[in-house]
This record gives sequence, structure tokens and C-alpha cells, in this order.
Amino acid sequence: MSDKKTILVTGGTGAQGGSVAQFLLKDGKFNVKCLTRNADSDAAKALAEAGSEVVKGDFDNIDSLNSALEGVWGVFGVTNFWEHFDKEFQQGKNLSNAVNNSNAEYFIYSSLPDIDKLSKSKYDVPHFQLKAQLEDYIEGLDVKHSFVHAAFYYENFLSYFPPQKQEDDSYGFGFPQGDTLLAGICIEDLGGIVKEMFNSPEKYYGKTVGGVGDDLTGTEYAKTMSHALGREVGYSHIPQEVFASFGFPGADDLANMFAFNAEFIPNRKEEMDQARSMYPGLKTFETWMSENKDKFSGFFE
Ligand code: NAP
Repeated sequence: MSDKKTILVTGGTGAQGGSVAQFLLKDGKFNVKCLTRNADSDAAKALAEAGSEVVKGDFDNIDSLNSALEGVWGVFGVTNFWEHFDKEFQQGKNLSNAVNNSNAEYFIYSSLPDIDKLSKSKYDVPHFQLKAQLEDYIEGLDVKHSFVHAAFYYENFLSYFPPQKQEDDSYGFGFPQGDTLLAGICIEDLGGIVKEMFNSPEKYYGKTVGGVGDDLTGTEYAKTMSHALGREVGYSHIPQEVFASFGFPGADDLANMFAFNAEFIPNRKEEMDQARSMYPGLKTFETWMSENKDKFSGFFE
């Protein structure tokens, strides 16, 4: 039997956990075990093929978490607000309790900045607030832990904020951020940072690390995108109340998140420098755009 320690990665079939699993598997210092509700999905099969153990489990099923945690030394936890909304808190609590009750010695939870503390509760942003409440909860447990705060994924420009044709036939995207800095990250890089935390845990116990690869204004994202694509893409500020009225689930949450960022997060350069020192391969938006420009072709007529 291998004498390597084992890390349980949650969300391994998704963006954050997938990146963490890939980096750990490539590094080879740990056995990797990924938790999924569906071990037959293509993503789960790909993890198994890449060398991960894949175990069935659900944040709603405490027994499944207890059994997934058997023999585990470290845990990467990420919960998904956008699928479960308010249930995220209970799911995060179930995971945290199970980790605390297991023999695991180190828990890294992917969270987000404490909006209530920073804005004196000015903005209601449940997907941030629930995670900050989970941080408080985890801090009250015995297990050694760290938090990682992933910035706005660059990949959001391929999903939620693609360039769209405007009334005047130009192309652009927008959000309620004015022209203030919005930190971003190629989410496939997150594992490079988290791997470093698992490799030197004592350096990170009790600390929060920012997952930040760049820190640009909307206009700068648009300029970088235009340069990479060889065609003009503009950024426009969408007023908070207009964005909140778009009607998709969580539109008001996101509108408030951008407004909070604009008002209370002047920049995340310090976190970006630390993240890059932990993982020098962390991509700037410019690098990510040059590597991913082909994925944008479908957005243009
Ligand atoms: P994702 O790509 O949508 O993947 C979600 C993962 O969660 C899947 O691997 C899924 O596994 C797992 N999962 C969902 N419900 C589960 C449950 N009940 N039990 C066990 N596993 C479950 O998500 P992601 O982007 O990596 O992470 C989502 C989180 O990132 C959100 O909470 C969001 O607030 C946060 N975030 C997003 C951004 C951004 O810019 N988009 C930035 C910072 C933070 P299976 O389906 O295989 O079971």
C-alpha cells in the first residue's frame, strides 16, 4: 500500500475542485480521492483515468461524507451556491463537521471575502455571506484550516458574460462595476495555489490566500479581449438596479456583488503577488485570452 497521504477533493468534477485534483495528481505527492454524486459522469470517469480514486458522496448525506473521509489526511472543500442557493450553508456545515470528526488534519475551504464585515452589511450578497458564515463556523472547530478566496473566473467571459451584439451592432459585455478594478483568475490555475498550501501546510494554517491572477477594470478586460480577438469588444457599466432586474436566479445577488467590489475592494494586488509567488504559472488575463481566443469565435456573427 502507498505510504502517501491522501487528500479528499470535493467538487473534483467541477471547476475549482477539478483544478485542485489535476494539480495534485500531476504533482504525485499525495493520493487523490474525489467526491462526486455521480461516479458515472464523464468528468468522474476522467478523474479516475487520471489516477484519482472516485467516491460517491453528497454534502446532504453525512454518512457518505464520513465514509469518504476514511484514511484521509487533507481536504479541499468547495460548495456550490449556484446549484443549491441557501442550502449551501448546511452543506458546508455538514462537510466541515464530518472533516472535524474524522482523522483529517488539514482542511482548505474555498470561501469568499466577508462582505458584511467589509461593507458593514450594506450589501446583501448571499453567495459571499454564506461562505463567510461558514468560515466563522470552521474557525470554531478543532481541525487546522485555511481559506482560499477565488476571484472572478476569466472563464465567466465564456459563459455568463460573453461578448454580445449591441443595438449599434458593436460587441460588448457589461456589469455594475463602473471602471473600478475587478480581480480575476483562470480557475484552472487555482490548483497551483492550493497544491502549495497542501505541500507546506504549516505556512498557511489559519490564513486566507487570494486566488487572484490579474486585477483589471472592465475597460482593461475589454481592451485585452479586443487585442487578442483582433476585433473591438467594449465594456459598459450596467447600473446595479438594471442588472438586478435581469430576472435570472441570483441576479440581485450578483448586482450587489459588483457594487460591493466597486465600493469596498480598491484592489487585490497584494493577494495577486502572493498567489503568483506560490504558483508562478498563474496566468494573466492577457495570457489566458491568447490561449483561449478560439473559444470566442461562436459569439460573433
Ligand atoms: P462547478 O464547476 O459548477 O462544480 C460544482 C461541483 O460541486 C461539482 O463537482 C459537483 O459535483 C459538486 N457538488 C455540487 N453539489 C454537491 C453536493 N450536494 N454534494 C457533493 N458535491 C456537490 O462549481 P465551481 O465553480 O468549481 O464552484 C462553485 C462555487 O464557486 C460557488 O459556490 C461560487 O460561489 C464560487 N465562486 C465562483 C466564482 C466565479 O467567478 N464563477 C468565483 C469565486 C467563487 P458532482 O456534480 O460531480 O456531484
